[in-house]
Amino acid sequence: MLYLSTRGHADRKRFCDILLEGLAPDGGLYLPVEYPQISDAKLTELRNVLANQGYAALAFEILSLYIDDIPADDLRALCAKTYTKDVFGTDAIVPVRTLEGNLLIEALSNGPTLAFKDMAMQLLGNLFEYELTRRGEELNILGATSGDTGSAAEYAMRGKKGVRVFMTSPHGRMSPFQQAQMFSLQDANIHNIAIEGVFDDCQDIVKAVSNDHAFKAKYKIGTVNSINWARLLAQVVYYFAGYLQATTRNEEKVSFTVPSGNFGNICAGHVARQMGLPIAQLVVATNENDVLDEFFRTGVYQVRGSANTYETSSPSMDISKASNFERFIFDLVGRDGAATRVLFEAGVAEQGGFKLSPLMVEEAASKYGFVSGKSTHADRLATIKDCYERLGQMIDTHTADGVKVAREHLRAEPMLVLETALPIKFAATIEEALGRQPERPAKFDGIEDLPKRVVVMPSDVEQVKAYIQQHCD
Ligand SMILES: *Cc1c(COP(=O)(O)O)cnc(C)c1O
Repeated sequence: MLYLSTRGHADRKRFCDILLEGLAPDGGLYLPVEYPQISDAKLTELRNVLANQGYAALAFEILSLYIDDIPADDLRALCAKTYTKDVFGTDAIVPVRTLEGNLLIEALSNGPTLAFKDMAMQLLGNLFEYELTRRGEELNILGATSGDTGSAAEYAMRGKKGVRVFMTSPHGRMSPFQQAQMFSLQDANIHNIAIEGVFDDCQDIVKAVSNDHAFKAKYKIGTVNSINWARLLAQVVYYFAGYLQATTRNEEKVSFTVPSGNFGNICAGHVARQMGLPIAQLVVATNENDVLDEFFRTGVYQVRGSANTYETSSPSMDISKASNFERFIFDLVGRDGAATRVLFEAGVAEQGGFKLSPLMVEEAASKYGFVSGKSTHADRLATIKDCYERLGQMIDTHTADGVKVAREHLRAEPMLVLETALPIKFAATIEEALGRQPERPAKFDGIEDLPKRVVVMPSDVEQVKAYIQQHCD
């Protein structure tokens, strides 16, 4: 399988070449030149694989359709090492449960950091270690996080050969639980840098370092952000696993509702649907930061400035711009790289957005199954309360946004809401909704009291560079 760029760059690359890269050289995102098609017979085979051999074997089947530059036995071993009960808490890895009627929940948040990002990041950690060892290279991952991404990256990369992580976060702004999760890691290859500033300051530092090409090359700086194709690919697997758990025959369809921010999670659903998985609707659920809902209702994609990006009680969806959205738009405009370039260069980069015709919006729904909705703080509280008091299930704030929006799009087919985090990560809002604290998985008892490994720094690029330098030599 070869990969192209959404902006039409002519080079075609293989999986391991784009694994360690971020954007394509022309600023676009990588996608496979075509989506492998799953026949009815193949879907039956996958059904048997999941039932008899489990999630890791299913992951191998899907990944091997896209990766042909890692020997099959090695790839199988990487999947087996990644998706274990030990790491993800259950044999099913992503168990599906009924919330009510045909409204189901697919649990993606039982990994080490209790958010769905572990699903992809754990695989990425093993892929990075494999490929870097094979090349005899090293990589220094520099990132900015406001919570879930950074901790998922650190738990995935801890102790891995050839990889160091330098993770910036806004000092004192993450929840106590999130800070404890990250800062309690004692692994020598994990570096927490708390920046005296806000999340945007952290992101600016990462950008500034990456734009210093000499420094970037000398210190082998890389990223693990959500535009990485390997992350997206890992996520495709749980759409298959969700579908197969919710159905007994291939004729049946299901829909998915996905609490969305950067459009990475639901983009994996789009890929699964393009492969022929019988998905009816892909429902985009946003919070008050409703850039995506606005697009799917009106065709207007208008990115927001930081003044118009709200801090909400589902903070992992507080985005101003959906970094994976370009992948879907590329498909929507008929895989036309030149047209995509115009929309994202002349449009997003220069004008802050673009508008597509009503016909295109209609096609996003009719041809690609996309619909959307939004949820607010009040909706979130009401949904958490209803699920707990009437249905006996406690859900987190992001999943609550999903459930709220899913209910507006319920039809005859089963609707799976992706559970993207566990309630304990966002305890203050659960307390506000229910008047009680969420339960804490036993392995996190007393985590706030563990020794913390973090350096605090002013928002200053040179100091961050000096720190990286000191810890690489
Ligand atoms: C990252 C995240 C999201 C948003 O996922 P995207 O792939 O950015 O759309 C939703 N919920 C939680 C809990 C997250 O951590």
